[in-house]
Amino acid sequence: MLVPRLVWFRRDLRDIDNAALAAALASGAPVFCAFVFDTAILDALPSRTDRRVAFIHGALLELDAALRARGGGLIVRHGDARHEIPRLAAELGVGTVHAGRDYEPFARARDAAVATALAADGRSLQPVCEHVLFDGDAVLTQAGRPYTVFTPYKNAWLRRLHEAGVPWHASGEGALAKPLVACGVPSLADIGFAAVDLAGSGVRPGMSGAAERLADFRERMPRYREQRDFPAVKGVSYLSPHLRFGTVSIRQLVREALQVGGEGGMTWLSELAWRDFYFMILDRFPHVAGASFRPEYDAIVWDEWPQGLAAWQAGQTGFPLVDAAMRQLAATGYMHNRLRMVVASFLGKDLGIDWRLGERWFADQLLDFDLAANNGGWQWAASSGCDAQPWFRIFNPVTQSEKFDPQGKFIRRYVPELAAVPEKWIHAPWRMPPLEQAAVGAVIGRDYPLPLVEHDVARQRTLVRYAVVKKAGGG
Ligand code: FAD
Repeated sequence: MLVPRLVWFRRDLRDIDNAALAAALASGAPVFCAFVFDTAILDALPSRTDRRVAFIHGALLELDAALRARGGGLIVRHGDARHEIPRLAAELGVGTVHAGRDYEPFARARDAAVATALAADGRSLQPVCEHVLFDGDAVLTQAGRPYTVFTPYKNAWLRRLHEAGVPWHASGEGALAKPLVACGVPSLADIGFAAVDLAGSGVRPGMSGAAERLADFRERMPRYREQRDFPAVKGVSYLSPHLRFGTVSIRQLVREALQVGGEGGMTWLSELAWRDFYFMILDRFPHVAGASFRPEYDAIVWDEWPQGLAAWQAGQTGFPLVDAAMRQLAATGYMHNRLRMVVASFLGKDLGIDWRLGERWFADQLLDFDLAANNGGWQWAASSGCDAQPWFRIFNPVTQSEKFDPQGKFIRRYVPELAAVPEKWIHAPWRMPPLEQAAVGAVIGRDYPLPLVEHDVARQRTLVRYAVVKKAGGG
């Protein structure tokens, strides 16, 4: 009899088009499936009420049901994955453990430790490209180096896509081995977490939740290019948590974008390429986790301003679009891409606060938090990243608001104290005459904060702050 295989699920919580599962099934050996609630990750979370953990839990229930329908079932462990996986492999008599490759520094160290422990016992860990379309050496410059500018990367990525096509991993069929060891998904309480009402955030976890969002977006994809920048409009896919936890495969989404085609499909495909790009950057330049991609930007001296940071986090800066965005994040765990750019720029270039503090806050709050994309987005806004916004380009939060939420619809949704403020004043309510403020019941400084900074003054300070970069030859 062939030596059994184990599929270790991590950020690929589905049984369809799953590269690791397909590789295990192709061996013809009995295949077991496992997930570890890793205490090395869970113990570091700031709260025992966490949307991500609830999302994973919901996705596991669906995955377990799908695997059971195929004769198997999910073995779920709660402990340190570095010990749990080698121990489980020994219990099951497994020769090879299959998993999707992970590019985060923590995960790489964990996987290296697991591989070493398995090898000591005559077993192996076999990682495959799963979470992105292309990894490793698949997309390199002609000189054989990783790209650091997006457009040439995307062109090479598209060429590769047309040459190689989009692989389909036949993991949706085939019987699985019935686990002899305890199997089934523990409750959230069993692992020390509270239940979270994800429906309140408009999210349904699992493969069915992803399919529902994709079906909804497919209709809207042709209009993506025109609508994607307006947070009050349902213009984007809202698929990011599903991509993060792999309840839908990136390959399926690439196929969908190609099928829809046109400007909508191609613009959306480009966003999926940005996602691959940032994973590649984290993989090839791991110093970005914690430091600037361009080292000269680490010479910048930031302000220590805990009250400014707290006001930003709480959505109390006095800039309505920034506050609406930060409150959307707190209420739902999601923030629209245009707003992520606006609030990130505001933290660094209006408040003068280190982008890493904002990056950390997003990491704690976002349901779709992914180190690669989050770090890429923050470094883009702070101008310290590869292919980033030039340092002297500074978003004006009022102009951004006028442009991307012209009637203030999004602002009114999340900042109810400004609901009655006329369109004319909604973007900068402190400019509203006092009598009008009283008449609409929104007295600035009483019902809603005065602006934390004066944008023009902050802008000048930022240009001075960033001048060290120019001196270092980074301008
Ligand atoms: P859509 O517009 O429908 O895009 C489809 C998918 O493409 C997204 O789900 C995402 O996987 C990918 N994508 C889109 N834009 C980007 C981008 N700029 N960079 C990388 N991938 C992209 N995205 C995350 O997934 N996790 C994060 O932690 C994250 N943090 C961010 C922080 C900042 C400061 C910024 C500026 C952007 C960040 N992004 C992050 C990228 C982007 O904002 C989100 O992916 C997007 O808003 C998710 O919504 P959607 O699924 O409706 O996107």
